[in-house]
Amino acid sequence: MAQQISQAVRAVMRPSAVSLEPYDPSFSPCRVNLSANENTYGMPAEVRDHVSQALAQVATNRYPKPMSDELRAQIAEWHGVMPEQVIVGNGGDELLFNLFLAFGGSGHTMVDCPPTFSVYRLYAELVETTVRDVRRNPEDFSIDPDELVKAATDASIVVLTSPNNPTGNLVPTELVARVCEACPGVVLADEAYGEFSAAGSSAEPLLSGHPNLVVLHTLSKAYCMAGARVGYLLGSPSVIGALSAVRQPYSVNVLSQAAASVVVSEREAFEPTIARIVSERSRLAGGLSSLERLGVRVWPSEANFLLVRMPDAHRVRCLLRDEHSILVRDFSSTPGLRDCLRVTVGTPAENDEVVSAISQILSRED
Ligand code: PMP
Repeated sequence: MAQQISQAVRAVMRPSAVSLEPYDPSFSPCRVNLSANENTYGMPAEVRDHVSQALAQVATNRYPKPMSDELRAQIAEWHGVMPEQVIVGNGGDELLFNLFLAFGGSGHTMVDCPPTFSVYRLYAELVETTVRDVRRNPEDFSIDPDELVKAATDASIVVLTSPNNPTGNLVPTELVARVCEACPGVVLADEAYGEFSAAGSSAEPLLSGHPNLVVLHTLSKAYCMAGARVGYLLGSPSVIGALSAVRQPYSVNVLSQAAASVVVSEREAFEPTIARIVSERSRLAGGLSSLERLGVRVWPSEANFLLVRMPDAHRVRCLLRDEHSILVRDFSSTPGLRDCLRVTVGTPAENDEVVSAISQILSRED
């Protein structure tokens, strides 16, 4: 997305914003959308009905509760923490932004572990935070523990994405603990995809012993609420207090708060779908691995997507979109991800289709 900003406007902009590239997921409408790591099964019917009933009761003439009080209490109970340890935001993205507003800025350093979710760097740069990269191993995308701990010793923010987007691998919780101990600043465990990971992989049990740890969750992925924009962070009351100070007062609207309350109280209804996505992930990985003879490589994943390398991936992505109406995410120009695409795990039919379409494209002679 090229920026259409005139010289006159550039001259009066905040300097750190002038050269920023807007976040652009390159969305184009397609029949099969496996590009944004959403839950393609959609909300269970009974939950959707209860959400509709709740929405019908909402008074939109009144402002929302600034801190989403009921939802905050429900989330606290779910995760076994106090409400003061929870902050709800307009998607995880808003909370990430708040983290940089509160703890970033000029003279502050953020440790990033690319290749990873690009939004961290975007927000860091916007608020003039120095970005210190600890690059992942290009073979398995693991992070060198000693390099990370060393980089964290004077950082204001360390971001550890687990499972990582787009590589799908976890950060060991022992490493999260070591970083919390070494870092004078705030350590973010971004667990946006945590519901799809093996039990025991969350950094959440570390919260009680590490007051500088914050854990990000979202209802966008496993809980089918990407369009409603609700995420939350867990942390110590003190760090949550700092984040509350910089937030927009009414960022989570009344409709989203009401819908999220229903989703959280009926969260068990999502478990069968989450289990299905996890089993489909293995089947999709198997299908893609069967294309090894065509040069396809798939990495293991603990999330609801797979990172896949293949010859001329950018061209494959365009042909998937233009000839098969299947949208996947292209990472082929991201440093460290040459010829890589990210495919969200979909329904069995969607997964079969994407494997067969990739196979057809790569088998073509032209
Ligand atoms: N963290 C990671 C790693 C993500 O991939 C995303 C969504 N793409 C988010 C946070 C934010 O998600 P949302 O704003 O929808 O809650």
